[in-house]
Amino acid sequence: MKLHDFKVVRISDTKIGTVYAICPFCADTKGHAEVDKVKNVWHCHRCHRGGRLATGNSQSKEKVAMRELSINWDDYLHSISPQGLHARYLERRGFGPIQLKHLDPRYGPSSSKVYFLVRDDGGYFRYVVGREITATSQPKWWFPKGTPGKSHFLWHTPGFSFSPGGHIVIVEGIFDAVWGINRVACFGTSLSSCQLNLILGWDPKEITIFLDSDAAVKAEEMALHIFQKHTLRIYICVPPWGQDPENVGAYGNEFLFDTRRRVFG
Ligand SMILES: [Zn+2]
Repeated sequence: MKLHDFKVVRISDTKIGTVYAICPFCADTKGHAEVDKVKNVWHCHRCHRGGRLATGNSQSKEKVAMRELSINWDDYLHSISPQGLHARYLERRGFGPIQLKHLDPRYGPSSSKVYFLVRDDGGYFRYVVGREITATSQPKWWFPKGTPGKSHFLWHTPGFSFSPGGHIVIVEGIFDAVWGINRVACFGTSLSSCQLNLILGWDPKEITIFLDSDAAVKAEEMALHIFQKHTLRIYICVPPWGQDPENVGAYGNEFLFDTRRRVFG
């Protein structure tokens, strides 16, 4: 048996790398086969068959699985259990109930990852961003078939409603965007023309660029890019060295207004 021979029905809340799947050898319909993707073994609690999983390049298999799933991500991405490892990982990163509500974290194809939905301006789900539930993990992105790249979208909290003439804060990732009002994540340190048009479409009076401490130069470039397209007041805020907007999150937008620097307008 190989991992992708199983039809996964549930992800374990308590065991990392473990999923429950339909056993292909008995009349199981509920997901009695426990598949441990870390130890590469499986066991059916109904018919007691089991054994080792055939291994190979698991990375590329996971990619294939992701592609296969891409047409019905919506069915697959269940909300995480508040008592599970995924919730504890997010709590360790400092997120409280309000931030967790905004992030709306989900389970997905890999039980050691937590996933978040990215929606377009109309609130429709467009793609998925996720990461391993380890302290040093980097975000990864998955796009359903036909979805344009991440440079076409921005992430903001579900309740985001912007009044023209107001203030927009541009941050890198969704973990930075949940700490204050009017924040949008552009998924990197530069802004695509498409993302800039989305922002200018809200008609803000001023913009603050709030990137990680290692992206000071990119922040200057972004400010110039915006100002060349539209003359408005632009500020840059770079947190103290080694910090990023997530680390100073608890200060919310207060931190921004205290430390930002006006560069244009
Ligand atoms: Zn069985």
